[in-house]
Amino acid sequence: MSYDHNNIFAKILRGEIPCKKVYEDEFALAFHDIHPQRKIHVLVIPKSEYATFTEFAAQANEAQISGYIRAIKKVADTLGVTEDGYRILSNVGGHGGQEVPHLHVHLFAGENVGPMVVR
Ligand code: AMP
Repeated sequence: MSYDHNNIFAKILRGEIPCKKVYEDEFALAFHDIHPQRKIHVLVIPKSEYATFTEFAAQANEAQISGYIRAIKKVADTLGVTEDGYRILSNVGGHGGQEVPHLHVHLFAGENVGPMVVR
C-alpha cells in the first residue's frame, strides 16, 4: 500500500487536525480515539510514514521499531494502566478492518475490556 499523505493521522501528525494528546516522543504520538469503544481508548501511531503493520515491520529501521514498541509501553504507564492491564490491537489491511492507512495500535483500558471478540 503506498502511503497517502492526506490520511487523517498524517494530518494529526502535521498539526493540521487537533487531537487529545496522551503522549509524544521522537518516535510516536498517542491520542484518544474520537469514538472510544472502552472507558480508555487511545491510539498510538509511529511518526514514521507506514500505512500498515506489515510495511512497518518489513521496512522501518531498528530505532523506529524499538522506539514505537517502547512508546506503546510508555503510553500505558502514562495512562496509569500498566498494573491493572490493558489490551492492544492493530487492524491490518482490508480483512483486518483497517480504516485509516497509517499504522496504529489501539490501546483499550480503564475497565475489564472483556473477552477478545472477533465479530
Ligand atoms: P481502524 O479501523 O483500526 O483503522 O481504526 C481507526 C480509528 O481511528 C477508529 O477507532 C476511529 O474512531 C479513529 N479516528 C478516526 N478519526 C479520528 C480522529 N480525528 N481522532 C481520533 N481518532 C480518530
